[in-house]
Formats: sequence, C-alpha cells, structure tokens
Amino acid sequence: MSLLSGYEPARSCTGSPTTGARALMSWYLGAYAGRGGRNLGIYNCRSVAGTSTTSLHGEGRADDLGVPVGASWAQGLADQLRLNSAELGVQCVIYNRRIWSGAHAAAGWRPYTGANPHVDHLHVELSWNSARGLTPERVQQVLGGQPAPPSTPPTTPPPSAPPGHPTIRRGAKGDPVRELQRILNAWYPTLPQLAVDGDFGPATEARVKHMQERAGLTVDGIVGPKTWARLLGG
Ligand SMILES: [Zn+2]
Repeated sequence: MSLLSGYEPARSCTGSPTTGARALMSWYLGAYAGRGGRNLGIYNCRSVAGTSTTSLHGEGRADDLGVPVGASWAQGLADQLRLNSAELGVQCVIYNRRIWSGAHAAAGWRPYTGANPHVDHLHVELSWNSARGLTPERVQQVLGGQPAPPSTPPTTPPPSAPPGHPTIRRGAKGDPVRELQRILNAWYPTLPQLAVDGDFGPATEARVKHMQERAGLTVDGIVGPKTWARLLGG
C-alpha cells in the first residue's frame, strides 16, 4: 500500500470514457452491486459543479461509484482506494464532504467544500497512466485481497428507535421533526432548504422519500427506526 503523489488536471473533453475508468467501474459493480453499489457515471463533458474547471469526467478518467447514503462500507472503500492509490493510479477520491488528492498526498482526508457533498457516491479519479492501463484484474489483485469492508449480516434485527427519536410521519409536530428537518437540510444542501419549524408537512415528507429512495430504504415517507438510524449515521 502506498500513496500516489501528483495530480494531472483535466484539460478538455475527449469524447469517451477511458479503459481504466471502465475497468475500475467493472470491478466495483462486481464487488459491491450486492450491497447497493451502482454506476453513477464515467464520461461526462462538464465542469466541476459550481466552477468553470473542466471535470475529470470530461476526460473519462473519473468514476462516480454510487453508494447507498450512509452505507457503512463506503468509507472503508474510500480509504482502501486512498491507501492503495499508487498501486491503482488513483489521484483523487471525494466522499462524504471529504477529499483526498495526490496534490496533497500526505495530508490525508481534507474537508471538501464543493457544491456537491458526495454523500451518495465516491468520485474517484485516475492518473492518465492508470486511465490507459488499469484492468479489473489489477484492481482485484490490489483490493480483492483486502479484508472485505464490513457489511450488515442479513440476520441483523432491525435497529430499535434511538432514544428520543420516535417514529414520525406527515402530521407529526415537535422537536424530533425539527431535528429531522435539520438533518435533511444538511444532507441535501443543494436542494431548497426545508423550514425547520417542527411541522411534518408535504415538503418534509417529499424530502424524506427522496432520502429513502437514494438510501435504498422503503420509500414510505415514514421516519421509523431504520430511517432514523441511517439519518443519525448508524
Ligand atoms: Zn464525479
């Protein structure tokens, strides 16, 4: 395991995904689709959200590895990609409001303040060398031998409601609703902010469903033990 040092910025759109980025995505789906991992895209000729800088997606050198919001294994995977960045040719990883970049390799995870908080995917960038040469077999060789990130065994009973977090739904009022609204606003800073008024109305319900859908939960707009656990980082 070693850190890649250096960073090759994107210059201009190239028209297609690179073989290395496709290889990493292919490995990822094989390893994580069963735990909710999804392909959220590779090639996309655009700028970094909120800036005029060309995104690495425009050179097909970046993967958006979709993860269920709050998935316990996602940070583990982000760490493995960072710790093996030299072996894999990974030059940058962004996940859950934090960034690691080969431009500051030894600095570890730093706060990421870009417009997109990256709570539902890992953004992973490859060096040009890796973008041209990485294979799924190579990724498997480097990461496949690592202890599997923890996954929730299927026999785990559903979490009980955390203290002070009763099941709430449309029509509920009070402090738990206020806390819910605050958390949802923090999760989705780019969406219109909910009024933190302690009144579980249609807007709050719609935002709960939005979160449940993206987190792979039952989309019922009801905040019970499982939804609370996810919102509170369980
Ligand atoms: Zn991305």
